[in-house]
Amino acid sequence: MSVFDLVILGGGSGGYACALRSAQLGLNVALIEADKLGGTCLHRGCIPTKALLHSGEIADGARDAAHFGVNAQFLSMDMPAVNSYKDGVISKLHKGLQGLVKSRNITYIEGHGKLVAKDTIEVNGQRITGKNIILATGSYARSLPGLEIDGVKVMTSDHATKLDYVPKSVIVLGGGVIGSEFASVWKSFGSDVTIIEGLPHLVPLEDESSSKQLERAFRKRGINFELGTRFKSHEVKADGVTVTLEDGKTFTAEILLVAVGRGPVSANLGYEDQGITMDRGYVLVDDKCRTNVPGIWAVGDLIPTLQLAHVGFAEGILVAEEIAGLNPRAINYDGIPRVTYSEPEVASVGLTTAIAKERGYDVVELNYDLAGNGKAQILRTAGSIKLVAQKDGPVLGIHMVGARVGELLAEAELIFNWEASAADVAPLIHAHPTLSEAMGEAHMALAGKPLHAHG
Ligand SMILES: Cc1cc2nc3c(=O)[nH]c(=O)nc-3n(C[C@H](O)[C@H](O)[C@H](O)COP(=O)(O)OP(=O)(O)OC[C@H]3O[C@@H](n4cnc5c(N)ncnc54)[C@H](O)[C@@H]3O)c2cc1C
Repeated sequence: MSVFDLVILGGGSGGYACALRSAQLGLNVALIEADKLGGTCLHRGCIPTKALLHSGEIADGARDAAHFGVNAQFLSMDMPAVNSYKDGVISKLHKGLQGLVKSRNITYIEGHGKLVAKDTIEVNGQRITGKNIILATGSYARSLPGLEIDGVKVMTSDHATKLDYVPKSVIVLGGGVIGSEFASVWKSFGSDVTIIEGLPHLVPLEDESSSKQLERAFRKRGINFELGTRFKSHEVKADGVTVTLEDGKTFTAEILLVAVGRGPVSANLGYEDQGITMDRGYVLVDDKCRTNVPGIWAVGDLIPTLQLAHVGFAEGILVAEEIAGLNPRAINYDGIPRVTYSEPEVASVGLTTAIAKERGYDVVELNYDLAGNGKAQILRTAGSIKLVAQKDGPVLGIHMVGARVGELLAEAELIFNWEASAADVAPLIHAHPTLSEAMGEAHMALAGKPLHAHG
């Protein structure tokens, strides 16, 4: 068998992006996938959760219809129909991706691979050799010691994305992105929801002001949460699950979702045997995603960078371009857009106030309340755009809360990554009435010329 330029282990966001870009650059690529092309994001992550959130948005729209003068009524969720809509989206994207991989002449191999030499993956009893090996085996949903996942009463997001009924009540363990998104979905579907988060805030990696606004909005929606308190034990009974916290409080619900983070898929895959440096199961890499072993690279959730699909895409493309000799620029991880797609959404790029101060910047802040934005009033959403900037310098971070603010990230990302100052952005004209106007207004205000804001 011929020697490939790249042999990629794992066909999720990181692996397939690397395969597509390498093939585009004329390289000879083998892509090995044990399960389904598209990985976590397409089959159990980004896409199914966003489809569920959209069904939830429509349910909320029906509940609120009278406010907008529409005679409609929310009756109930039809979960088989929700799942068929969601699975239809996944299946269409899956087919499209399969077609794309085929059209680029990538050698696609189905099977569970293992690294057996520095340049070889063994799969289905066959040895596939490459000048470069790219490890892209992704991540799995973690649990806590003693917290056994049965997939029925105690589940992870893998099970929750496929649930065929609306639970009466849910405990969500973990108030990060995944926990907050499921809490939002289930509340919209009609469940009683309680989130338990060990840190002092929901979405704790976000700017504290965003976390507080999300908490306020969730409280208003009737989503309960316990913050700064940790899980101690649980008991599964025929009719539900009881969780006891370290502070002695107990909660009972029909199901428990464990959303305490994701760990790297790297056990028994031969990585350590080939001398690859690892840390707690993560493969360590340099700023071009090279491991310490020449010719072996790693991308996506397997390495300790932000666990996001678009980070996997960017890392996969980076590796392809580096191998092709294009000498691409290393990724600036501060400039990666982040969204929690709950209702309301939380979106950000760049530094939080706390991190900017830690890094020694002379920080100025501007908070533009969406109450001053026409479109936000039309949509009946509350929230804000907060700018963190260096005094007389560039914008260092943009933090947003509100319906649909994830869509504003494209501009926020350009502002941050082009190191624009408020004065650079203020003259740009934003269409009226759009939510994006709030982005313009925030920068106008920070540049000292507020329009629809008090100066
Ligand atoms: C519920 C949920 C919601 C999410 N929502 C978002 C979102 O909205 N936006 C976002 O950006 N990110 C989101 N993510 C994160 C995103 O899904 C991941 O960051 C992304 O999938 C990582 O891509 P990856 O290629 O590193 O790994 P994965 O997508 O996990 O792919 C790894 C692939 O490798 C395969 N594999 C593993 N071991 C082997 C082996 N030995 N041989 C062959 N194949 C193997 C697996 O079958 C898998 O297909 C979400 C995740 C979850 C769980």
